[in-house]
Amino acid sequence: MSQPTARKLTPEPRHETAAETIQRLRSRVAELESLTQALEQESREKSLYLASMSHEMKAPLNAINGFAELLADTSYGTLDPEQQRFVSRIAEAGQHLLGLINDVIDIARIDAGRLEVAPQPVRINRAIEQVALICRGLARDYDVSLRFDPDPADPLVLADDRRLKQVLFNLISNAAKYSHAGSVVRVQAGAENGHVRVSITDQGVGIRPEDRDRIFEPFERTDAAMRMADGAGLGLPLSRRLVELQGGEMGVDSKPGEGSTFWFTLPVARETDTPAQDALQVAQSSPAQYAD
Ligand code: ADP
Repeated sequence: MSQPTARKLTPEPRHETAAETIQRLRSRVAELESLTQALEQESREKSLYLASMSHEMKAPLNAINGFAELLADTSYGTLDPEQQRFVSRIAEAGQHLLGLINDVIDIARIDAGRLEVAPQPVRINRAIEQVALICRGLARDYDVSLRFDPDPADPLVLADDRRLKQVLFNLISNAAKYSHAGSVVRVQAGAENGHVRVSITDQGVGIRPEDRDRIFEPFERTDAAMRMADGAGLGLPLSRRLVELQGGEMGVDSKPGEGSTFWFTLPVARETDTPAQDALQVAQSSPAQYAD
């Protein structure tokens, strides 16, 4: 005897029509978009808070630096050699801290969308020569020779002069800092496909493939670099952000133990644009202006 068929108590669920699926997905996308916007806004506000807080720290620090300078100035009385040494340590540490705070402020301002750059046509050869001149003493301290092969075409790059030099200073000083004594750091520049590409090649400690992305994040350093020199891990993240803000890209090629090439691109300027005023004369420049 055949079993009686069980009666269905719940109705068969109705399948969603294509139009309903599209509608449901659209509203989900809209929800995700507004969530992303809210998170971005929150992140911008945090960056702005960090920038303002760091800015507030500059006032007392400037007072410390100013008074350290006054103490070192013999017209206010003389110090014995040990006191002079202590005062110069205060002044050095103060300048170092000021550089770090300035970098934190810059990174936070970029992340908050509040840092403005003023791109103008700049002769790349001249910018590199000026920064190389400033870096020569530092390179000498690490017993590294610094070479620059100027591009005979001397391309004009569209960049904010001060920010371009800040990036160059960070990359060239890193190359010297993470190099072995007696080695060479080479700076090259040339135009290709509407961009000027600048590369800084060292024969230093190198970077392992697994470290190549993270070193562009704030406060990230490699073990090999930490064994060689002090640092805060702010120069590269700031440099990459500055380059991107000016329409370029930054990256690194490296062989661990053999050396690295840090490179960046910036748009080529048109010959018809007015060249930038040479805003920063070498004589007025000090490493502290660019240092991280
Ligand atoms: P800092 O040099 O103060 O640590 P940076 O942000 O400039 O900070 O660099 C981040 C890290 O990237 C360095 O600590 C180092 O690990 C690595 N790095 C940067 N430049 C080089 C280089 N030329 N050779 C090897 N490692 C480098």
